[in-house]
Amino acid sequence: MIQQDRLKKRMLEMAEIGKTPNGGVTRLALSEENRQGRELLMQWMKEIGLAVRYDDFGNIIGRLEGSDPDAAVVMAGSHIDSVPKGGKFDGVLGVLGALEVVETIRGQGIDHRNPIEVVAFTNEEGARFTPQMLGSGAVTGEFSKAYTYARTDWDGFRFEEELQKIGFVGAEENRPKNVETFIEMHIEQGPTLEVNDETVGVVTGIAGFTWLEVTVHGDSNHSGTTPMSYRKDSLVTASGVIRALSDWANGKPDGVVATVGKIKTSPDIINAVPGETTFTIDIRCPDEDQFDAYFAEVHELIRRVVSEDELTCTIDEIKTHPPVVFSERVVGTIDEVCRDLEVSYRSMASGAGHDAMYMHNIADTAMIFVPSINGKSHCEEEETRWEDIEQGVNVLYEAIVRLSQ
Ligand SMILES: [Zn+2]
Repeated sequence: MIQQDRLKKRMLEMAEIGKTPNGGVTRLALSEENRQGRELLMQWMKEIGLAVRYDDFGNIIGRLEGSDPDAAVVMAGSHIDSVPKGGKFDGVLGVLGALEVVETIRGQGIDHRNPIEVVAFTNEEGARFTPQMLGSGAVTGEFSKAYTYARTDWDGFRFEEELQKIGFVGAEENRPKNVETFIEMHIEQGPTLEVNDETVGVVTGIAGFTWLEVTVHGDSNHSGTTPMSYRKDSLVTASGVIRALSDWANGKPDGVVATVGKIKTSPDIINAVPGETTFTIDIRCPDEDQFDAYFAEVHELIRRVVSEDELTCTIDEIKTHPPVVFSERVVGTIDEVCRDLEVSYRSMASGAGHDAMYMHNIADTAMIFVPSINGKSHCEEEETRWEDIEQGVNVLYEAIVRLSQ
């Protein structure tokens, strides 16, 4: 099985790059810290004896040849960029866990037919260049090269020049190809595994989502002189929508969530009735069959609440992505491994997007989750117990061995 000490040492060494005072990391995509992390990863890949390459989006791939060089690739990995003041496990575990798996396979001389590749995708977080998962999206047909290269950060720096600046513009022919299977290991980033005292989440898919921007149109007027019965207060109506939306999601099965994270009133002053209120809605649903119906229910709910108050609204759809259902073959293998290794596990959907979401476009894909202490991530307090990491990476190891033979 894998060597936890070796993996832990690498994880902690990587966490030194972009280290923050409270034990987190800031290693934004294509930053100097990200470059250092990339160099370190490639150095480790070479030490293990992998053939290392990077493609025209800076995605780094280390390849261990199998007995049949023409056989399709079994790939595992994630990302090593972080959000500002993020944690040291998010993404890195999936990359260094896969590296540990490959080193173990090599070290033990395990025969495998398929080539095994370890990948670190560029700009997964979307914290510097939006949208998220640019590197995996670009190599799987989700985003064009022109679109990807033209993304800019908050200072106006373009993805293309920043990639050049850190020296990671590789050849197009280096992109992932002939990938049959992809597994991404990741921290859960939620409380479910810890609360249920389970070690591994076998991830069956990724929740679909829709992002809306709703504007409620009322009447702006003087706050002191407009009697209550004369008002068309857009914020009061918006708050009715927000409450109804939360109640709606509460009444749905687990995994259906609704969030209003951003709100703005106009004229946004203390002594005026808000004439217009604009807010965002983020709805997620893992169930393929219900996704469209739920989407319609939310639209109907917004219009009903607004019209009851005799106001009007406009609803703009920012982005929608249907639920992703992972490969039965790969999910089934991970399930079987968990039973054989007697690891406590549950099947679950991911509420968050991951590189696996786009890799699903080109390969049979699944994910493995390990618990997040207190369900926390994207913060310096992000932690996972090393015992859980060991068991999770052993599951990854055994799954990769079975899938590459
Ligand atoms: Zn991540």
